[in-house]
Amino acid sequence: MKKVSGELAALIESGGAKADLHTHSRASDGSMAPDELAGYAKSRNVLLLALTDHDTLAGLDGAAEACRREGVSFAAGIELSALWRGREIHVVGLCADRDSPVLREAARAQLARRKARAEAIGARLEKAGFAGAYLRTLELAGGEAALTRGSFVRFLLAAGARDTAQRCFRDFLAEGRPGYVKPDWMPLGEAAAAIRAAGGIAVLAHPGSYKLSGGRLRALLDDFAAAGGEALEAVCSIQSPSERAFLAELARGRGLYVSCGSDFHEPGGYLEVGRNIRPPAGVRPVWTHPGFTLEV
Ligand code: MN
Ligand code: MN
Ligand code: MN
Repeated sequence: MKKVSGELAALIESGGAKADLHTHSRASDGSMAPDELAGYAKSRNVLLLALTDHDTLAGLDGAAEACRREGVSFAAGIELSALWRGREIHVVGLCADRDSPVLREAARAQLARRKARAEAIGARLEKAGFAGAYLRTLELAGGEAALTRGSFVRFLLAAGARDTAQRCFRDFLAEGRPGYVKPDWMPLGEAAAAIRAAGGIAVLAHPGSYKLSGGRLRALLDDFAAAGGEALEAVCSIQSPSERAFLAELARGRGLYVSCGSDFHEPGGYLEVGRNIRPPAGVRPVWTHPGFTLEV
């Protein structure tokens, strides 16, 4: 299996190129086709890319093929939604064997939950006056996508419900709003274990987004590491320097690898591919993990 070359690692660590290991495509709630992503990422100087769609591996072949054409190094990925102490937590899996029966079954079961939730959200929005909410959302997403609340935001924007994505989410999809449906994701430990069983690296995604106190974040990391989690996405696009330093120190102190990801969904958004994700000095970048293998 191919590894990240020493030259590429040095280039990324010196800021001469970028690694973006958290991105989405139209296989879930991103706006670009999987095979459009490589060229766009390369135009923004991303030379190491992972596609991490929500609960699906469906976009990986297209993205890998385009990366081969563009000369971008490519790692397979997935983002699993999970529950920990009643909260929704996301786990990115990098470099897993896509043919692993354990991972395939975890993704299949999770996609079934995701579809049931999307249908329930659609039914609730329908009651709130948005005719055809589920089918229109699916159609806007390309017909076969793993739908998230972000997918429903696109539908609500197109339907003129509110004038910005943030308002659509806040007024219709956030907890307690008319389109909210409580998620029923797999337990955190199961997500980390499935990635590990498939030979992948489990990364705790966007740790700053859960609004946890330092103590609770440490408890989360303890449980995550006990379940086989090995890396922290300490480097995100939207993050203060002090938050990044805090998370990098947390990873260092626990012997966790550090991943870097924008959580890119669409061009021109504030989570832009490759934006502000250079790893800080003194951490172990996740591409130095012995299991970090490239598909391209
Ligand atoms: Mn998303
Ligand atoms: Mn996420
Ligand atoms: Mn994401």
